[in-house]
Amino acid sequence: MRQILVSVKTYVYIWGAMTKTVVTKSAAKRVFICPLFLILVVAWTIPVSSQSLRGSSKSLDLQNQVAEEHDFTYIDTPERVRYFASQGWLVRVSPTRNFQLHAVSFPFARPEVALFIERLSRQYMVACGEQLVITSLTRPTERQPRNASDRSVHPTGMAVDLRYSGNQNCRAWLERVLGELEQARVLEATRERYPPHYHVAIFPNQYAGYVEVLQRRTASRSAEISYTVRSGDSLWTIARRHQTTVDDLRQANGLRGSKIYAGQVLEVPANH
Ligand SMILES: [Zn+2]
Repeated sequence: MRQILVSVKTYVYIWGAMTKTVVTKSAAKRVFICPLFLILVVAWTIPVSSQSLRGSSKSLDLQNQVAEEHDFTYIDTPERVRYFASQGWLVRVSPTRNFQLHAVSFPFARPEVALFIERLSRQYMVACGEQLVITSLTRPTERQPRNASDRSVHPTGMAVDLRYSGNQNCRAWLERVLGELEQARVLEATRERYPPHYHVAIFPNQYAGYVEVLQRRTASRSAEISYTVRSGDSLWTIARRHQTTVDDLRQANGLRGSKIYAGQVLEVPANH
């Protein structure tokens, strides 16, 4: 694993050096490229500790390492939770039609955790038809349950516990999605036994960067959704320009032949 990491770091370093030469030529470009570049570097230098949702001390190390990198405080008292909320460092998590809170004493979390819950619960409702149940968020150190690890990151506000669903398909869906996000190095998830639940530690900067990339991709896709035909265009040239196929264009627009006319508005399939 170390060898892979070293080579990834070397690659990132070389790539960084190459990008730097190009980027210094344009100050405006530097502003645009740098945040994305940093997100990628941070994301790729974080090792994948487990992909099976099995808890381990390595996984705990990683969660604490990320908390340290973000300079997070391990909040000790309920008063401090309220103070962090008043400063906007923690936000209130309020239930929606897609998720509920069950016996959560402190319904506050880092903003990125709230974003994660909002996105995941929406997808979970579509995939599985039931509400996601949140059983824990920020927990000050003096209110940790007796069986909690003293290295738990719940006091930092970057963790959320999800109830173990009675529906096998819902569990399978959730485990697949958590595994994928873990592979993308934006969180660390473990399946806990007592009581059965999923513990998810969100890596705030990495997760926010990941969502931003997804949203940018969606925005550029929706910009391509309709296209006005110009004279000289053919289905083939339009398909080529939008990285789609003539057949997909025909299907999306209910066209039988290849005849199109200037001024006609065509739907360009969004999945390309
Ligand atoms: Zn937990």
